[in-house]
Amino acid sequence: MSYRGRIAPTPTGDMHAGHARTFVAAWRRARDAGGAVVLRIEDLDPLRCRPEWTAHAIEDLAWLGVTWDEGPVYQSARRAVYADVWRRLRDAGAVYPSTVSRKEVRDAAHAPHEDEEDAEPLFPPALRPPADAGRDAASPAGVVWRFRVPDGETIRFDDAVRGPQAFTAGVDFGDFVVWRKDDVPAYELAVVADDVAMGITEVVRGEDLLRSTARQLLVYRALGAAPPAWCHLPLVRDAAGKRLAKRHQALSVRELRARGHTPAEVLALAGAGP
Ligand code: GLU
Repeated sequence: MSYRGRIAPTPTGDMHAGHARTFVAAWRRARDAGGAVVLRIEDLDPLRCRPEWTAHAIEDLAWLGVTWDEGPVYQSARRAVYADVWRRLRDAGAVYPSTVSRKEVRDAAHAPHEDEEDAEPLFPPALRPPADAGRDAASPAGVVWRFRVPDGETIRFDDAVRGPQAFTAGVDFGDFVVWRKDDVPAYELAVVADDVAMGITEVVRGEDLLRSTARQLLVYRALGAAPPAWCHLPLVRDAAGKRLAKRHQALSVRELRARGHTPAEVLALAGAGP
């Protein structure tokens, strides 16, 4: 099977040097394997994404020397694909509608990994609805849909960088959102739907998403789809050890470029050689 990779920026702000490093690494890995690259714009969230940030991301990637064979594909235009996956998950009994508010989850839950950056309160299994809830829902709109995780099961996978990984459902993560109350498909559903539809053979992304990979493997299984290989790259951190975020404006690719830095210098700033 020939390699198919993807680069998937989320346009909620200007790309920073850390993102640039991840995207360039994903691109190189695909090219080294003689593979194809799909550019996918993860602009699902209408409140947080802006067209100018999408335009900037595309421009910044091109400036960095990244090339792609397909796309840009816009997640905001693929609602029908996600609705179809939602339907399949509903039919498989893998997901359920929940009227439990975020505050109720917070109050009832404990977050065992509060020190970790991607920690979120575990959805308490006691607040799940009956097993057949939502089976006859015609659409996901108007209510949160969650994936029912197999409590106690350890999800394992091999990572090209980090080696063997293990996350236990109900301990490291709980029932996760696949469709938001405001009728926006959630990241975990959309990313799997797209990676399957696009025939992605290896996912290269930041290690902040390791735990999400365990969630996503459950979605693959529920869909009866073969998962790709995984490669999670270390995140770039600032002097205080905090990971770079879009709020670190000084390290935005555009800002560095405006100050006269070359693409190689931008990547070197983020810790990667040219
Ligand atoms: N859109 C995510 C980001 O910009 C990447 C998600 C993924 O690669 O699965 O960090």
